[in-house]
Amino acid sequence: TPVIGVLALQGDVREHLVALATADAVARPVRRPEELAEVDGLVIPGGESTTISKLAILFGVMEPLRTRVHSGMPVYGTCAGMIMLADKILDPRSGQETVGGIDMIVRRNAFGRQNESFEAALDVRGIAGDPVEGVFIRAPWVESVGAETEVLAEHDGHIVAVRQGNALATSFHPELTGDHRVHGLFVDMVRANGTVESL
Ligand code: GLN
Repeated sequence: TPVIGVLALQGDVREHLVALATADAVARPVRRPEELAEVDGLVIPGGESTTISKLAILFGVMEPLRTRVHSGMPVYGTCAGMIMLADKILDPRSGQETVGGIDMIVRRNAFGRQNESFEAALDVRGIAGDPVEGVFIRAPWVESVGAETEVLAEHDGHIVAVRQGNALATSFHPELTGDHRVHGLFVDMVRANGTVESL
């Protein structure tokens, strides 16, 4: 059984821990470099991306995170977590850094004021059956992607789910619904990559 961490600095950590456990992984919170070293994959939750970025630097976990993501550890970011995985932010706040890992440019709070939170049914590549109910909360969208980045879903002509190698990101929050198929897809990615013990 893969052991998957949830970066537990700020944001909706608990919901991801529950979703991962439902999707047949062992899930645990990760705050320190030593904890990061013991997981086979990592989820970066939704929350506030500047806060997560600053806390990651403060806790000394930003550099180890970059090292592991760039050496192929499977990682999944939702919303603020998607922003953390972007190689570039269109409108970063001062002091805001990212882990990177996905060749894309994201626009923070992109869906705008009138539409800060909404739900939409989405066709997500790699997820069979009914559409996925996407919960968007002050969500980013992906402004553009590089040649290696696969677009998995769009909403209103904007990219809202992507994958590049072992890195997955969604603008929306599958952990807030009872449908854990996106987490299932991520757990499969972690399983395919192998566990820390077997590496
Ligand atoms: N707007 C937030 C940010 O820029 C993301 C919101 C979320 O994660 N639900 O970090």
